Amino acid sequence: MNVSVIGFGGIPIQGASFEEADRIFAKALEKGITFFDSARAYTDSEEKMGRALAGARERIYIASKALSRTAPKLAAEIETSLRNLRTDTIDLYQLHSVGSTPELERVLAPGGAYDALVEARAAGKIRWLGLTGHSREVILAAIGTGRFDTVQFPFNPIETEWEETVIPAAKKAGVGTICMKPFAGGAIRSHALALRYELTRGMDVVIPGMDAIAQVEENASVGKRLIPPSEAELVELRAVKVQWGEKFCRRCGYCMPCPNGLNIPFLFLIDGYYTRYELRDWALARLAALEKKFADCAACGECLKKCPYGLAIPDMMKDASKRVI
Ligand code: SF4
Ligand code: SF4
Repeated sequence: MNVSVIGFGGIPIQGASFEEADRIFAKALEKGITFFDSARAYTDSEEKMGRALAGARERIYIASKALSRTAPKLAAEIETSLRNLRTDTIDLYQLHSVGSTPELERVLAPGGAYDALVEARAAGKIRWLGLTGHSREVILAAIGTGRFDTVQFPFNPIETEWEETVIPAAKKAGVGTICMKPFAGGAIRSHALALRYELTRGMDVVIPGMDAIAQVEENASVGKRLIPPSEAELVELRAVKVQWGEKFCRRCGYCMPCPNGLNIPFLFLIDGYYTRYELRDWALARLAALEKKFADCAACGECLKKCPYGLAIPDMMKDASKRVI
């Protein structure tokens, strides 16, 4: 794949109407964006991409992903993605959010979701195979298998840990790196600077989520002339990292399991969407489906020993319970 360094992340477009989405995607094409990433889990995101991008199919790359972990289920997801995206071939299909080493082993075992990727590629329904996740161990292991063409993970001026081992390993193995959460879920305000940081530190393509024409214009302009951050800009970014460092959940899952049944990283994801994105209904719907919510944290402190980033998890749960539910 030879893609524009600025790609299009397909989460926020869920909040736009189909007509607005048409205009936003048209602007992305006009500005030279050629990589579009969606997911089965992003409600109507695939459909909006399929409708708006059908006329440009030959000159762009489309990626999607699904959470299914068995071959038959993933095969069915691929069929749905093909229909939604109005195409005969999806360029990149990814195993979405593989969260632990046992889960990676499960998808790679006979009958696991990876088998469906291989079959779909043999049938010409997809072209390249990828994996996405938040755990450095899992992404590193996935690179090490030699069975994935790309890996997608959150890298930004707050979540810099990936520079230590994962990015160099991907480079060495020739595996493409796709940067999700380039603005750390809304925590970073200097968008152009963050994108320059990520792209000049080894990421092949960044996929900021976009739901407005102005965002497309701002993000796409970064790809025209890539300049590494200056010393003064790095100081600014380090200050952002310090500001958020101890209250920013990386969704690595090291704190799990919670003895009281809370899905800690998912709850913090919901809180992030509620407070930093304008996807409040989405967040509240996800929260309503959970049995254990922020207020169910018993402050037992078990998770505190396990979070490598020193997050004050019970305090954060308490704060979120006041903000959200
Ligand atoms: S402090 Fe709260 S979130 Fe952490 S393990 Fe205990 S109950 Fe779970
Ligand atoms: S709370 Fe800490 S350990 Fe748990 S997912 Fe977030 S960053 Fe990882």
